[in-house]
Amino acid sequence: MKSGILLRYRDYLPFTRLTPPLSLGEGDTPLVPAPALSEATRADIWLKVEGCNPTGSFKDRGMVVAVSKAAEEGAKAVICASTGNTAASAAAYAARAGLRAIVIVPAGNIALGKLAQALMHGAQVLAVRGNFDQALALVRQLVERHPVALVNSVNPYRIEGQKTAAFEICEAMGKAPDILAIPVGNAGNITAYWRGFRQWREAGHIRALPRMWGFQAEGAAPLVRGEPIAEPRTVATAIRIGNPASWQGAIAARDESGGLIDTVSDDEILAAQRLLAQTEGLFCEPASAASVAGVLKLAGQGKVPPRTRIVCVLTGSGLKDPDTALAAAPRPTEVAPDLAEIEGVLGW
Ligand SMILES: *Cc1c(COP(=O)(O)O)cnc(C)c1O
Repeated sequence: MKSGILLRYRDYLPFTRLTPPLSLGEGDTPLVPAPALSEATRADIWLKVEGCNPTGSFKDRGMVVAVSKAAEEGAKAVICASTGNTAASAAAYAARAGLRAIVIVPAGNIALGKLAQALMHGAQVLAVRGNFDQALALVRQLVERHPVALVNSVNPYRIEGQKTAAFEICEAMGKAPDILAIPVGNAGNITAYWRGFRQWREAGHIRALPRMWGFQAEGAAPLVRGEPIAEPRTVATAIRIGNPASWQGAIAARDESGGLIDTVSDDEILAAQRLLAQTEGLFCEPASAASVAGVLKLAGQGKVPPRTRIVCVLTGSGLKDPDTALAAAPRPTEVAPDLAEIEGVLGW
């Protein structure tokens, strides 16, 4: 049975005798070798499949800690701004903990699966006519005025939970990878991984730290441009963020690790998503594919030495965003219930 990250990593988390041991079986996700990508780049590429978490994204790692601490501290409700996955995760864990969930999403810019999850789990969903950054600013004001726990990644418990993915990678490999490649939106996750790797080294489990490679979408790349983007645009809605809350954490992860933060275009993101699905058998959402798109881009520029061991984080499941997947896919071929016709279509 999967115990979940709170019990598994209790010694490394803010877990006390008073913390309810909340779990939906999050964490312990697969680390899968990527032979086709490795051959294409001559590197040694692995994929951390975070879509295998209970609600289909890595957000569950942070949310289980944030919601259990909110319950411990006596909160009756949680609130977040979200591009979708935080909303789905908050809604699920709040349901499990018996708390009210309120989520504010940018109207028209949330993937269908994520919206379905938030609604199904009983969250109160407000679609604000604005973008994520505006939604987060509103939520920050609401928590000043009302007794409700903020569960965005500005909540330090979120980062604490999310760092456990770095622990798992080191445990699976027996050491840290040379490079960790990760999509960057609000920048909580790159901050969390970097904290996780450093903490795992301080605990004496590994010696060397990885270089952190973060990737933003070209139209939503404030960290690369060096200033907030008022109207971020990208097909990868989970990283459609113009003013990341964990800006400093991302810059520190980049600089302290000798890493980089670069951009990838929407075309590169969608091509990487398709490549992963069709050659590795893994269907991730567009934002997740930014990590792989970035590694392919840098390999094409000769910046990936042969045999470099790289872990790309696939942050969320492709089932979250069926609209984007179907928009680029061929239509099914409709046939009569007729053997000869089917054989004809198949060229047999
Ligand atoms: C939230 C999210 C991201 C971005 O993570 P940040 O911590 O905001 O940088 C990337 N991919 C998916 C699928 C996400 O849900």
